[in-house]
Amino acid sequence: MKSVYLNDQHISIREMVREFSKTEIEPFIDKLDANEEFPTEIIRKMGELGLMGMIIPEKYGGSGLDMISYVTAIIELAKVDASVAITMAAHTSLGSMPLLKYGSKEQKEKFLPKLAKGQTLGAFGLTEPNAGSDAGGTKTKATLKGDYYEVNGGKIFITNASKASVLSFTSKVEIEGKNLGIGAFIIPTSTKGLEIGGKEKKMGWRSSDTRQIFFNKMRIPKDSMMGKPGEGFKKFLKTLVSGRISIGALSLGTAIGAYKKALNYSCERKSFGKTINKFQSVAFKLADMATKIESSKHLVYNAAWLQDQGFDVTKEAAMAKLQSSEAAMDIATEAIQIMGANGYVREGKVERYFRDAKILEIGEGTSEIQRIIISRKLIENYKS
Ligand SMILES: Cc1cc2nc3c(=O)[nH]c(=O)nc-3n(C[C@H](O)[C@H](O)[C@H](O)COP(=O)(O)OP(=O)(O)OC[C@H]3O[C@@H](n4cnc5c(N)ncnc54)[C@H](O)[C@@H]3O)c2cc1C
Repeated sequence: MKSVYLNDQHISIREMVREFSKTEIEPFIDKLDANEEFPTEIIRKMGELGLMGMIIPEKYGGSGLDMISYVTAIIELAKVDASVAITMAAHTSLGSMPLLKYGSKEQKEKFLPKLAKGQTLGAFGLTEPNAGSDAGGTKTKATLKGDYYEVNGGKIFITNASKASVLSFTSKVEIEGKNLGIGAFIIPTSTKGLEIGGKEKKMGWRSSDTRQIFFNKMRIPKDSMMGKPGEGFKKFLKTLVSGRISIGALSLGTAIGAYKKALNYSCERKSFGKTINKFQSVAFKLADMATKIESSKHLVYNAAWLQDQGFDVTKEAAMAKLQSSEAAMDIATEAIQIMGANGYVREGKVERYFRDAKILEIGEGTSEIQRIIISRKLIENYKS
């Protein structure tokens, strides 16, 4: 279908990813989900197709595409499987973008080409036991000792942790006994002193890799820092802005996937002598689901388009994430209701969408935090 946001190139990307999802992802997802198995082979093929570096410039080995192309691909992947979609989104928006935006020339040349081609995966470490929504509560500390930093502490709930070769992370920075605020670093995950914890047992996103990372007297060269001490927190928060558009897209794909299952079911299932879509209570659920999907679509594409034009999209990205994630949770819940017991059991192939939807309201800033961001911007704009 045509859309005001999509040109011919976007539409051909959409068709390519749709076909890939159907043939290369869909046949394998039930097994991957049941076994909580990382989709290694699928991610390898996505790298070959250029999907792991869609928004990385061509000079660094990426596809040099815009944000609209990227969200279009995430929507198509998430319609079929959110774990594959988050592996790509965390690798791109979180694992690669801080480097592209804030890395030095040397850091970019060292890490970006392999990340862009999907030959290595990226991860992003912000969250700690005392630093979730309150990300400034970071306890991890990097102490300058001559020409290297010694890092102690750790991160929790890190996507792609055991599969990534490159990690960006935040840490307090101490130089000559002075706390200089939070800095952002980029390092290979093979660094001595970096250890990866066991796999988290999750409700959803089961084939995505989520683990703890420990830094134990980890020595990293002085030039591992991106920018200056004290700038890291702001940089990572900025990274989360465009990351939120990708979670909005992931939410939208999840919502569409669940809605389609319920729509198909409602056209087949008979009760009291007619298909259940003839009952107004079911038909109205479908109408509400489709309307929520449409409004999420506009918010996600609007935020992506504005970002492509170079605007500050702090508010629009938060709105896209808030609306789409809450819509995905509502739609997945209603999809199960429409499918009754068949929705509740695995064979109905819709309960995975429900399990995958909940995290969308939590990761990369909870719904409550999105409301804080949006309301702050509204008040800021009112004052100015
Ligand atoms: C599967 C998964 C993957 C993840 N991947 C990554 C990753 O790759 N990298 C990374 O760094 N992190 C990652 N995270 C962590 C995620 O970003 C955090 O869980 C999230 O930011 C929320 O932090 P928290 O869980 O500590 O919740 P808390 O901050 O403890 O919040 C608990 C509750 O309190 C509410 N709350 C807190 N503060 C306020 C406030 N000021 N006003 C109103 N309500 C408030 C929250 O909204 C929430 O409802 C991941 C988490 C999961 C589960």
